[in-house]
Amino acid sequence: MADRENKYPLIIIGLGPAGLTASIYASRYQINHLVIGQALGGLAFEAHKICNFPTEEEISGGEIVEKMKKHAESLGAFLMADKIVNIVEEDKIFKVTTQKRNVFWAETLLLAIGTKHRQINLPDENKFIGKGISYCATCDAMFYRDKTVAVVGGSDNADTSSLYLAEIAKKVYQIYHGNKLRGETAWINQIEGHKKIEVIYNTKVIKLKGKEKLEKIILDKPSHSLKEIAVDGLFIEIGTVPQKILTEKLSIETDKNSYIKVSLGQETSHRGVWAAGDITTTSNGFHQIITACSEGAIAIENIFKFLQKKNK
Ligand SMILES: Cc1cc2nc3c(=O)[nH]c(=O)nc-3n(C[C@H](O)[C@H](O)[C@H](O)COP(=O)(O)OP(=O)(O)OC[C@H]3O[C@@H](n4cnc5c(N)ncnc54)[C@H](O)[C@@H]3O)c2cc1C
Repeated sequence: MADRENKYPLIIIGLGPAGLTASIYASRYQINHLVIGQALGGLAFEAHKICNFPTEEEISGGEIVEKMKKHAESLGAFLMADKIVNIVEEDKIFKVTTQKRNVFWAETLLLAIGTKHRQINLPDENKFIGKGISYCATCDAMFYRDKTVAVVGGSDNADTSSLYLAEIAKKVYQIYHGNKLRGETAWINQIEGHKKIEVIYNTKVIKLKGKEKLEKIILDKPSHSLKEIAVDGLFIEIGTVPQKILTEKLSIETDKNSYIKVSLGQETSHRGVWAAGDITTTSNGFHQIITACSEGAIAIENIFKFLQKKNK
């Protein structure tokens, strides 16, 4: 059997709000643990302006995750930047292998692996990524100063992306297939009547045009005068899809959309594995920082009880 020197009672996978909160709780419960994540902050890092997290009237995603990281580290957590590429179970112990070829062992696992951006799946969508197409306004807005951009979507994320882009770009089209924007009324009120933002309802982007980079988007819109719009950038904000690889490796039960099914205590169908945050079916599917943090905390309380019972 391989050397199990790097063995922990708990490995938390994910450096987003769910994973970082879980680490804070694990430290308070004195569970020796390791936190491994590909990117600090996950999707939260992309939020330009967060106005709904208690104690923070207005804060960026980058700032809030930095605060969470500092809090976790102040309690002694060890956070590691790496990607988990494989997990196998051997004698009720999980062997976790990372992209940088590190191998760790764990008695329990917490998957706080979040979701990734959904694509429209248009021909040439991949070709134009980084050449006009972006999935993160916070990351890429600065490249579009005084330019014309479009945002696809009608959710909170799409609304806040439009508002942020309007601070930088010359003109923002927001293209939405529904007839009413969704999300927080406070954001919608800011969009309606905004000088730089034009919302085009009941419309889909059906084609992308350009040689080296994106130049035009073609709309399906029968009732709007615009059939095509010349744009410098297109920001796609049409939701997210779960990260699937690790769930599949452990044959964990999911719903039909690949979100991990968990118990009230955040335990998955695989003994010894918990899940928290955007990747799960809990919190009524309300994917927010506060719900991710809450699930991370609940999971740790249950992992603590599990380890206590196991090691009695
Ligand atoms: C533009 C935008 C604006 C938003 N605005 C708000 C807002 O105002 N208020 C609010 O409450 N919420 C907001 N959200 C939603 C919020 O960001 C998410 O609900 C939250 O980030 C979910 O946290 P999480 O920890 O579950 O997942 P994530 O934050 O996505 O973190 C997942 C973590 O898992 C890691 N990971 C994934 N796979 C692996 C692997 N194989 N190996 C290692 N690590 C892995 C990732 O690198 C990351 O560290 C916004 C989201 C976006 C995109």
